[in-house]
Amino acid sequence: MGLLDKKFEDSNIIITSLDKAFNWARLSSIWYMQFGLACCAIEMMATAASHYDFDRFGIIPRSSPRQADVMIVAGTVTIKMGPRIKRLYEQMSEPRYVISMGSCATCGGPYWEHGYHVLKGVDRVIPVDVYVPGCPPRPEALLEGFLKLHEKIRSESLAKKKTA
Ligand code: SF4
Repeated sequence: MGLLDKKFEDSNIIITSLDKAFNWARLSSIWYMQFGLACCAIEMMATAASHYDFDRFGIIPRSSPRQADVMIVAGTVTIKMGPRIKRLYEQMSEPRYVISMGSCATCGGPYWEHGYHVLKGVDRVIPVDVYVPGCPPRPEALLEGFLKLHEKIRSESLAKKKTA
């Protein structure tokens, strides 16, 4: 233990702000809504599997929007699917976040020009917090997207949220 050896035997006191403590707890247990729309979802599943292991960051899948903190929009969003995604988003409780995974979810991807049935970005129906580029993005890219989300959560203030 080096310098810290035997320094904290009598008392263990940590001084921090409520914001930092709550944000640390929130970003250490981000539960994501479990659904996929197209090929990007396969990479999302690979990120959750043993090699990349989402769970070690406290990122755990949930089957209900009511228990989820973040929605990963993984795949092509068709115009028909748009209202369903919006409904699921509205069923999530605050604070809620959205990660747009892959170029289809972000801008229509390969369908951006001739895909008459594809929404040209999921941010036309719900707000997006983090965009993860790629077609498909590799699991490392999705993990980096979560680290960006961590940064965002870490900088949030409960007091400001209350007065907003
Ligand atoms: S971005 Fe590429 S990999 Fe992802 S859903 Fe679209 S076509 Fe498939």
